[in-house]
Amino acid sequence: MFEPVAVAECRSYLPKVCAPALRGVIEAIDGLDFVKPGMKIGIKVNLIAALKPERAATTHFELVCALCDLIREKGATPIVGDSPGGAFSSPALKIVYRATGMTEAERHGALLNSNFSQKEARFEEAKEAKTFAYTAWLDDVDAIINFAKLKTHGMMGMTAAVKNLFGTVPGSIKPEYHFRFPGEERFASMLIDLNEYFKPQLNLIDAVIGMEGNGPTAGTPRAIGALIASRSPYCADLLAAKLIGISDLEAPTVRVMKARGLCPQSVEGLEIRGDYAPFVIEDYGLIANRRSLEVLNNPKTAFGRVLTKSLRSVLAPKPVVLKESCVRCGKCAEVCPAGAVAVGEKPAKIDRSKCIRCFCCQEFCPKGAIEVHRPAIARIASRF
Ligand code: SF4
Ligand code: SF4
Repeated sequence: MFEPVAVAECRSYLPKVCAPALRGVIEAIDGLDFVKPGMKIGIKVNLIAALKPERAATTHFELVCALCDLIREKGATPIVGDSPGGAFSSPALKIVYRATGMTEAERHGALLNSNFSQKEARFEEAKEAKTFAYTAWLDDVDAIINFAKLKTHGMMGMTAAVKNLFGTVPGSIKPEYHFRFPGEERFASMLIDLNEYFKPQLNLIDAVIGMEGNGPTAGTPRAIGALIASRSPYCADLLAAKLIGISDLEAPTVRVMKARGLCPQSVEGLEIRGDYAPFVIEDYGLIANRRSLEVLNNPKTAFGRVLTKSLRSVLAPKPVVLKESCVRCGKCAEVCPAGAVAVGEKPAKIDRSKCIRCFCCQEFCPKGAIEVHRPAIARIASRF
């Protein structure tokens, strides 16, 4: 038996609109029943970078403020936190809190996390991540609420509740994890282990305005108009995937959570409280170039299998630098775990022989100058 999922309409971040919508979607699953007076409740938001709320890269602060009000009503204290890429430190997070508007949450009784220490976890039941580093503030709280943003993602196709828990790993360590858990299947399994370890009591997805295109930081805001809530991050993500029309082959976390039996095989198997049909977007701008993964994973003929095996490296999506947009800031070289990027007098250049296709460069380029491209030959091969 899987956890129910609630979906509710929310077309604006104005408090008079989003606060009642959030209350409604949470109440539909009795989502805050676990909150008792005196508890400390950690709200793990998505604060991927110091980007303004209108960029639709981060969990919107007005929703977080509304959630803080609900937690305070129950006599508990909300603590808001995340570890974006880069240093997990007070100066770095202060910039992020300010830019994203998250400082507003303090006016709603929240504490912004100020514990920047790290710990090591052992998790014997994990499929992949039997040991991992995590941000110790999560030990300071009695329960965790996972408040994600619905966006496209270069490596994972989609980021929502499951991927959001990668922010429990200190930002400076994240690049290593692409080597420890290489390939999208193992990486997705590691993300699911994090969810199993931290077991958020409630998972919320801000799909009021999502991000389409070159996500998770440089895409385009796209109105979806929905809030999603579930005790299960997997059931929440299954519905989120349906809203933006992303297939299992394009979304490794969805594929792996189904394979691990953590959610139904399709949305039809979910118990959904509310009507999701008005929020399904047929032409959501996915990272379409990831569709070459379909031919890599599921060739239809023997010839296709031979072709895809021999051309795997040619067919796979690649990060491509848009030279005219590159300002040579060096951020891509700084975050690349493989040392595959060189930046100097000329725009960034990627050494294909070193690139492990983690798409960290695409994620962190402040100018959106790196895109995920699908080679033309992949489109031809997909016909076989
Ligand atoms: S991060 Fe983007 S803008 Fe900066 S050097 Fe790399 S490609 Fe150019
Ligand atoms: S070049 Fe980009 S995609 Fe390739 S390994 Fe470096 S950060 Fe990852």
